[in-house]
Amino acid sequence: MSQSGETGTLFVISAPSGAGKTSLVAEMLHADQKLGVSVSHTTRPMREGEKDGINYHFVSREEFEAMIGRGDFLEHADVFGNYYGTSQVWVREMVSSGRDVILEIDWQGAAQVRRLIPECVSIFIVPPSYETLRDRLVGRGTDATEVMERRLSEARKECEHVGEFDYLVVNDGFQEALTDLLAIVRSQRLRIASQQARHSRLLSGLIETSESKAR
Ligand code: 5GP
Repeated sequence: MSQSGETGTLFVISAPSGAGKTSLVAEMLHADQKLGVSVSHTTRPMREGEKDGINYHFVSREEFEAMIGRGDFLEHADVFGNYYGTSQVWVREMVSSGRDVILEIDWQGAAQVRRLIPECVSIFIVPPSYETLRDRLVGRGTDATEVMERRLSEARKECEHVGEFDYLVVNDGFQEALTDLLAIVRSQRLRIASQQARHSRLLSGLIETSESKAR
């Protein structure tokens, strides 16, 4: 636990691919230095421009399965035929040291995390229309056509789980969506339990002062 006894919040962010989640999360990290993001492990091949240890920890199926066996993952799921998982130790250490941590994971992982850590805050991001989603997926052009088709149909399936989340952000404009996301983080930090832990000295000082004056 951090010195002040504060623990951080776990923010679970999911979205259909093409909703702009990765760019929004990158900008959240830039705008709010107190936020950290978990780098997942995956068995999917590295895309151009990606870096091992930055975008993902790229591992083989054998390594991933060995990690499952050792209980290394907080959650893991099969997404589009590849494994993805979140490191248990890293996330728990960060949160208990008072850091707010973002998990950028799919709906299956979000459901697992919600069961294990019910106090997590989950956010779902959607594009403003199906057409926008399709244009964004096709425009990205990093995957083969059949992969793209599959992603579009997976995107629709992902959206079926929107009701399981605490918050919905519509990415109709980047800045507005970013403001919404940062507002969710900020409001979470202002919740009474967090504030009491953060400002315990102030609060006890205030209470003692008013009690001694009343005497
Ligand atoms: P991509 O391959 O496009 O980077 O990600 C594909 C999907 O896998 C996205 O929905 C992404 O959020 C999800 N994903 C990435 N990392 C994890 C993880 O650690 N666990 C789970 N369950 N999903 C993940």
